Amino acid sequence: MNGKPRFIMCNCTGECPGFKDMNFWQLLNFVRNELDAEYAVLHPQLCVDDGEHFLLEILKPDTLYIIGACDPRMQKKMFRDAFEKSGIDFDRQVVPLDLRSMSTEAAIVKVKDAFGQAHNSLKTGQ
Ligand code: SF4
Repeated sequence: MNGKPRFIMCNCTGECPGFKDMNFWQLLNFVRNELDAEYAVLHPQLCVDDGEHFLLEILKPDTLYIIGACDPRMQKKMFRDAFEKSGIDFDRQVVPLDLRSMSTEAAIVKVKDAFGQAHNSLKTGQ
């Protein structure tokens, strides 16, 4: 895998009640400053056309992505095409996290955990 994990946040237009308790900027800045991330970025709606265009612009093969958004099974369904077209195996190279209905603090713990596991798997090559 190339480089460090990338963090992509989708916040459901920023208007969704599921994210009402989340301070996205605190979360993104925590990822950028405290976790060993290549970058952290926020998109308002990855599951519509411009979201797919964005993914197709940025996705690279041999890279690990951690996505904070909605239900992981939905993420897989909605993002599969973009990842497949970019030569990425969703099951192996993407960690989809459901961050809905969480406080910023709880989301930080969940994302930190995912980064910990991602770094371990990058080290061991699994
Ligand atoms: S991908 Fe999930 S979190 Fe993002 S806009 Fe679509 S439904 Fe909402």
